[in-house]
Amino acid sequence: MSEKLFEDSVKNMLEYVGEDINREGLADTPKRVRKAYEFMFKGYKENPKEILQKALFTSTNDEMVVVKDIEFYSFCEHHMLPIIGKVHVAYIPNGKVVGLSKIPRVVDVFARRLQIQEQFTEQICDSINEHLKPKGVAVVVDARHMCMEMRGVQKICSTTVTSALRGLFKKEKTTKDEFLSIISSSFNK
Ligand SMILES: [Zn+2]
Repeated sequence: MSEKLFEDSVKNMLEYVGEDINREGLADTPKRVRKAYEFMFKGYKENPKEILQKALFTSTNDEMVVVKDIEFYSFCEHHMLPIIGKVHVAYIPNGKVVGLSKIPRVVDVFARRLQIQEQFTEQICDSINEHLKPKGVAVVVDARHMCMEMRGVQKICSTTVTSALRGLFKKEKTTKDEFLSIISSSFNK
């Protein structure tokens, strides 16, 4: 699709909601919106497999690795309004570890696409499971949905928590509980 077609769509939306699209302050708005969208949806052009497989290292460590409080900004696919929250990821290595900065990057790949929270949680978990092949993976997502807060029911301060568990986190209650206790301090902030 051409840049012009996108910018014309923004103009149409502005007009539809009652704006005067010839107003000085809006002159560059369609272009700015396009650039913002290109950034906010760049996840469609990125591949989590490439990110993870470039940074795998052999390791004898088989203790739980936890990366918590990863901030993310996404959009719900129903209203295209922001979902803002935190992701907590844990895995138990099985001969390989991944560079720690790669976990937030994988979160970002899936966040920078239209999402529903349940699918987002599963995609992060499955991607790490598939490309790292650990003994277990756990992902918890804690988020606020602007489509609930800015419109409709306007329930302020409600958060939605979703989780996905694979391998040892699913099989062993003690492993799952250890992860949940590590991330428990991150809730209700
Ligand atoms: Zn929504």
